[in-house]
Amino acid sequence: MTANPSAADYRAAADRLALPSRAFIDGAWRPAVSGRTFENRDPATGAVLGQVAHCDGRDVDLAVAAARRAFEDGAWSRAAPEERKAVLLRLADLVRANAEELAVMESLDSGKTIRDCLNEIGHEVPTFFQWYAELADKSFGKVAPTGEKSLAMIVKEPVGVVGLVLPWNFPLLMAAWKLAPALAAGCSAVLKPAEQTPLTALRLAELAAEAGLPAGVLNVVPGFGETAGQAIGRHRDIDVVSFTGSTEVGAYFLRYASESNLKPVGLEMGGKSPFIVLDDADIDEALVSSAVSAAFWNGGQNCSANMRQIVDRRVKDAFLDRVLAKTRALAVGDPLDPATDLGAMVSEEHRARVLSYIEAGRQEGARLLAGGGPSAGLAGSFVDPTVFDAVTPSMRVAREEIFGPVLGVIAVDGIEEALRVARDTDYGLHATIFTRDIDKAFHLARRLPCGTVAVNGFTEGNVTTPFGGYKRSGSLARDNGTEAVDQYLQTKTIWVSLR
Ligand code: NDP
Repeated sequence: MTANPSAADYRAAADRLALPSRAFIDGAWRPAVSGRTFENRDPATGAVLGQVAHCDGRDVDLAVAAARRAFEDGAWSRAAPEERKAVLLRLADLVRANAEELAVMESLDSGKTIRDCLNEIGHEVPTFFQWYAELADKSFGKVAPTGEKSLAMIVKEPVGVVGLVLPWNFPLLMAAWKLAPALAAGCSAVLKPAEQTPLTALRLAELAAEAGLPAGVLNVVPGFGETAGQAIGRHRDIDVVSFTGSTEVGAYFLRYASESNLKPVGLEMGGKSPFIVLDDADIDEALVSSAVSAAFWNGGQNCSANMRQIVDRRVKDAFLDRVLAKTRALAVGDPLDPATDLGAMVSEEHRARVLSYIEAGRQEGARLLAGGGPSAGLAGSFVDPTVFDAVTPSMRVAREEIFGPVLGVIAVDGIEEALRVARDTDYGLHATIFTRDIDKAFHLARRLPCGTVAVNGFTEGNVTTPFGGYKRSGSLARDNGTEAVDQYLQTKTIWVSLR
């Protein structure tokens, strides 16, 4: 491709892609046992991209059997950590080398902008594989202080076969968040991508095999939640499940576990995250850019989206003026155009859901200042970035996860009201605070029940920092950071009595 590819260049690259269509089980491509397929569409155009294997419980059984055999034969699970490291580093390199192809594939599959896909797949995904590869041979066990008559070692062992059930909003990045620590720990995996976005996880499995991952260690079963997802949740030979998605489906996985083999379940779920602007904050470019990307990044299809913007009344007008100007300048359109800021919603069904929330906001009396409907002149699943003022904490738009490009401003008087409103939610994933006063920043950061608090800049953190939720946003498990590996390890005590 040219140095600065255009939309036409990416479209031509899209036309050349060979899209995966079968499951990847035990190191080989396989059709679903039933022979069934499902239609995979490009949400930006509605075009059918292809047919993908519709895996169900029988395919999950095959994948788990392959994963178990691979785990027991030890080629990966008992390999020296430096050998696992070498394979995962090769995988990181292969993702980098194929980033353009993967990014175009992901953009087509999900409606995400090519810019975001290139950033996530060219930089973040390989960073995850590299970071956990490097951690693999630098993690030590412990010796307990039991005295001279014994030697008590505390060692970590891979938990076994892990089931990874993924959402559609960051398809390959979520695969990397979970796979990189699971594989570094020595586990085998059965991964189910979301039915809307199966392609890049399948291509990743192929790259992992090319990097030297033994057959059976990574199996990818595209399919639907009620069939393939449930079969993973209920499988008696899966040792751990790690899930990212809605709180409703996260709760199903707890039920599946309780009705099967009591496997631990790591949950990363929804959010209704606050973005707090105190009256001493400078309403400058950094703050306004943060506010806009907190609500509109990835079309708002983001579990940490800071939709609830809780702004002190004294700075609200200045804040809104600048936020509106920036929102109106956002380019909505062809995801394959590098100039596009907001691509398509992941599906027509999801767009309808987002639009119904916008309608609910109007009906409940929020004041619509920008957007508010489908994007004019665009045929696919697009929604214009939408700004509401006069949102109150009891409105549905302030309480339920919208997962679309909607920003709502709730005016408050002072820090304690801001805190009260911010805490008034069932969720606890993320919060952003803007203030120039470090004492106020810490006061809020300590009292907000959520997994990540960003001060003076919207961020989810990076590979080094754990990510997960309090309350209905998550379980105690964390993705990212050294904490992520704990999801995939067992702790064993080996006590040696000495004479
Ligand atoms: P889901 O929670 O429904 O999907 C997440 C994953 O779980 C998908 O792989 C899905 O499969 C699977 N799944 C769905 N139903 C079941 C089931 N009964 N048993 C087992 N697995 C199941 O999220 P959606 O994709 O439908 O999005 C709905 C809402 O969830 C969004 O609007 C948003 O509010 C929230 N969400 C939150 C995310 C986050 O990052 N926290 C990510 C995605 C969504 P499949 O889709 O293939 O049927």
